Amino acid sequence: MKAKMWGWRVTSPGPIASGPMAWARLPMPVPDADELLVRVRVCGVCRTDLHVAEGDLPVHRAGVTPGHEVVGEVVASGPGEVGGFWPGDRVGVAWLRGTCGTCRFCRSGRENLCASSIYTGWDSDGGYAKYTLVPAAFAHHLPAGYADAELAPLLCAGVIGYRALLRAEVPAGGRLGIYGFGGSAHLAAQVAMVRGATVHVLTRSPNARTLALELGAASAGDAAEAPPEPLDSAILFAPAGELVPVALAALDRGGTLAIAGIHLSDIPVLDYQRHLFQERQLRSVTANTRADAREFLVFAAEHRLRVSTTSTRCPTPSRRWRISRRTESPVPRSCTRADRVSARTPARTWPAAAPGGRPSGRRRRPAHPIPSTAAVSRRPSATLPNAQPAGSGFWLAGIRPPIMHAVRPSTRTAGIRRC
Ligand SMILES: [Zn+2]
Ligand SMILES: [Zn+2]
Repeated sequence: MKAKMWGWRVTSPGPIASGPMAWARLPMPVPDADELLVRVRVCGVCRTDLHVAEGDLPVHRAGVTPGHEVVGEVVASGPGEVGGFWPGDRVGVAWLRGTCGTCRFCRSGRENLCASSIYTGWDSDGGYAKYTLVPAAFAHHLPAGYADAELAPLLCAGVIGYRALLRAEVPAGGRLGIYGFGGSAHLAAQVAMVRGATVHVLTRSPNARTLALELGAASAGDAAEAPPEPLDSAILFAPAGELVPVALAALDRGGTLAIAGIHLSDIPVLDYQRHLFQERQLRSVTANTRADAREFLVFAAEHRLRVSTTSTRCPTPSRRWRISRRTESPVPRSCTRADRVSARTPARTWPAAAPGGRPSGRRRRPAHPIPSTAAVSRRPSATLPNAQPAGSGFWLAGIRPPIMHAVRPSTRTAGIRRC
C-alpha cells in the first residue's frame, strides 16, 4: 500500500484570489477503529468550503482538506463496527462527523447542538482528495437512481434545506414562502410540494424564478414583493437580514419564519405589532442531525428529486486552483460553526438507514469481507486503493442554477464560480 495520495489542502487561508489551496501529495489515510476508507468519486462544493479556504472560519486543522459532500466507494475499514457497509458500497460523507453522544443535546435527538460536534473538511480532512475517512456511524447509505454528482449536493444543501423545512413547521396543505432560491431552497421546495404545500418563491434572480416555476412553485416574485397570499411558514435562505421583517410581515397569524443561514447580515429593527405579534415565530437553523440526513435521503429514494449539477475534473498535480466568488449569489446555508474538540467520540448505536439500498437490518455476507487496515497492506498492488493513476483526479459537483458549480480549468488554473 502506497503511503501517499494526491489531494487538496488549505495551505494559507485567505482570499480565494490569493490561492489558499494547493494540490499536494498527502499521507494515505489509514482507517482507525470503526472508520471507513472511502475512494472519492465526487465531492460537491459548498459555501462552507470557501469559508474554510478563505479563513472565514477559524482554523481547526492546519492544512485541512476541505470537502463535505462526498460520494465515494468503501474500500476498507478499521476494526470494529462499520454499520452495515461493505466493500464496493456507495457511501456518502457529510458535514457532521462526530458528536459526544452523551450530552443532553445528543441524548435528546438534538446532536446538531452538541458543543463537541466535529465536522468533515474542517476538523478532519474531507473529500477534495483521492481518499478520505469517515466514522462509519456518520456515513450515509445513498439512494439508488441518482448519479454520483447528483447525490453530492444532497448531502449538505439538501439536508440543510430539509431541516429548514422541518423548522418552518409547514402545516399540511400549508402555504410556504421561500426567500432566496439556491441549492438548499430548490431541493426543499420540491420536498414541500410533494408533501402538499403551496410554495411561493421570492428571489431577485430571474433565472431562479424561472427554475422555481419549472419545479412547480405556485408563484415566483421578487424578494421584496409580498406573496400573493399570507404564508403559514417561510424560510429565509438568502443571507440578507433585511428580508427578515419582509418575511415576517408576509406571515399569517401563527406563522413561522425559519432562517436557514449560518451568516446573516444585520436585521433591521422589528415592529412588534407588525412582525411578531399574533404569535408569529422567528427561528434559526443550525446544521443538522443524522436523523435529518437519513430522513431526507429516504425521501430522495422514494421521490426522484431534480438536481441540476455541473461537474469538472480536478486539475492535475502542479496546477494550482483559484476560486472566484460572486458575493451577490443566493447561497445555500449549510453548516454551522462548532468548537474544536481534540477527540472524536462518534456514537456507535445510531441505527443505519439504507435509503434505496439494502435494508439495514438484513446483513449480507460480502464475497470479500471489508479488509482491516492490516489486511489492506497485504493486498496485491493491483487492488490497492491508490492503484488509480496519480493525477486522474476526482470530480467536483455543485448545483446550478442558481447556486454554484465547478468549472473545468482552461489553462493552469481552474475556478469555482457561483451563479
Ligand atoms: Zn453531545
Ligand atoms: Zn456544507
